[in-house]
Amino acid sequence: MNPIVVKFGGSSLATAAQFEKVAAIIRENPERRYVVASAPGKRFDGDTKVTDLLYRCYDAACAGQDFMPVLSEIRQRFADIIDALHQSADLEPDFAAIEAHLRRSPQRDYMASRGEYLTARLLAAATGFPFVDAGELIRFHEDGSLNDSATQKASSALKAYPCAVIPGFYGTYPDGEICTFSRGGSDITGSLVARTVQAEVYENWTDVDGILMADPRLVATPPILPAVSYGELRELSYM
Ligand code: ASP
Repeated sequence: MNPIVVKFGGSSLATAAQFEKVAAIIRENPERRYVVASAPGKRFDGDTKVTDLLYRCYDAACAGQDFMPVLSEIRQRFADIIDALHQSADLEPDFAAIEAHLRRSPQRDYMASRGEYLTARLLAAATGFPFVDAGELIRFHEDGSLNDSATQKASSALKAYPCAVIPGFYGTYPDGEICTFSRGGSDITGSLVARTVQAEVYENWTDVDGILMADPRLVATPPILPAVSYGELRELSYM
């Protein structure tokens, strides 16, 4: 059987408990061999996504303001996950590199990409899968659009790995600098990875109990659809 590619969204990777759930889902089926990770999302109502904190850090650095309080908040988010997982992963050299980058010449996309990068590093440690950087696989044109042919060529390197954790959301410009997709772009990384490894299935996991009949932010406790066909689902997403 061809492999299954799994992508986990930010809400699925927001806390250590969520990380454990994700690691269990991966372990449950040995065909789940390629994993694409988003950055930690909101842990509760009113919380801030790590990606938004990273943008905040970048804005503060560009405005010549002190970015350290926000950077410390991000560091703490990851430290909490590492501690609760009893992991030995050391992200300190990565945070030192991020700080040095902010002091030197902050680049917006580089900063935004660090959430996925760090999360994938942690998830690789949690699953024992190798970490493969999306910068090596996903290629963009100078105008920021996806360079599909270069991506197909570069991402074929992934086939040499029997399994891997790959950060979503970013790739590189021709000069090697980081370029991101638009917000929510890890879904696209997942689909590109699925194409590369000729996945049997691309599973895009999100932390909900099923497909609800209405938006839960607008309607309190809407019921879950007991069953839905592909045709109905396609129609729903189209609408
Ligand atoms: N972390 C990025 C965002 O918040 C990308 C993603 O989650 O797919 O938009």
